[in-house]
Amino acid sequence: MAANIEIFDDRLKELVYPDADLEQLASGVVHSEGPVYCPEDGSVVFSEGHGNRLLCWHEDKGVQVLRDPSHYQNGNTLDLEGRLVACSHGQRAIIRREQDGQWVILVDRYQGKRLNSPNDLVIKSDGTIWFTDPPYGITQPGQGYGGKMEQPSSFVFRFDPATTEIEPVVTEMERPNGLAFSPDERQLYVSDTSEVDYPQGHHYIRVYDVLAGRQATNGRVFAVVDPGQPDGFRVDAQGNIFTSSQDSVQVFAPDSVLLGKIYVPETVTNLTFGGPEGHCLLITAGESLYRIRVKTRGLVHVRNGGKS
Ligand code: MG
Repeated sequence: MAANIEIFDDRLKELVYPDADLEQLASGVVHSEGPVYCPEDGSVVFSEGHGNRLLCWHEDKGVQVLRDPSHYQNGNTLDLEGRLVACSHGQRAIIRREQDGQWVILVDRYQGKRLNSPNDLVIKSDGTIWFTDPPYGITQPGQGYGGKMEQPSSFVFRFDPATTEIEPVVTEMERPNGLAFSPDERQLYVSDTSEVDYPQGHHYIRVYDVLAGRQATNGRVFAVVDPGQPDGFRVDAQGNIFTSSQDSVQVFAPDSVLLGKIYVPETVTNLTFGGPEGHCLLITAGESLYRIRVKTRGLVHVRNGGKS
């Protein structure tokens, strides 16, 4: 189908094709989430959030089940070696798929207490894993195995898999959810989606200055996303923010001006850039996975092109 793109600022014309097709690659998914593009074979791995499975879409093979049960895996990404690293609501952990296909837990505790339910993650160019830890896998039916919240709040953590050091970098948010770095990694964007929990809650993206490559400071509101929530978002190579919302992918310039909307027929949860040159936007929404070709491209930190 032809995409419906609304342009509020001419800068969007440099980023998208106004007449691009919005392709539905997969349907019938029980809450589609957490897409990641795998350059090795051109597939897209994504989570069936409420179906407790990890799925994989490939141009020739269609949709295949990669992991069942997935223990309510949510956000997925690739590390610098091209390995899948993910947030597990069910295991309340950050997990990684090893060369032999086995999934291992990298971290599931902070100060001896279980994490809430890691939701989304990003890998910094130094290999550290930055992730959000809201309690949705504990509090929301069908998104985890329930349980008791042991952490005092919902933090954003920095975890170094090389040293296993874990430390909170943002402690002031109610429900941190999506996160991404600016292209120079001097800023960290984090969304707060506490509107899910109560009507007066937040549905915005905050931005922090990254200090010494390992701390986040000076948090302030970057953009309020409406309607819906900025569950997940990505930054393109020029620093523009492409975020989920209820009706569309909303595009914000680095100066926080809303450039326009790429409408999607289902509620957008997450998105990522992909394709051989990074010029595709892969969007999980409702029960589907969508793809649209864009002029801009995503940021890539993979050290060896995903060949592991
Ligand atoms: Mg999320």
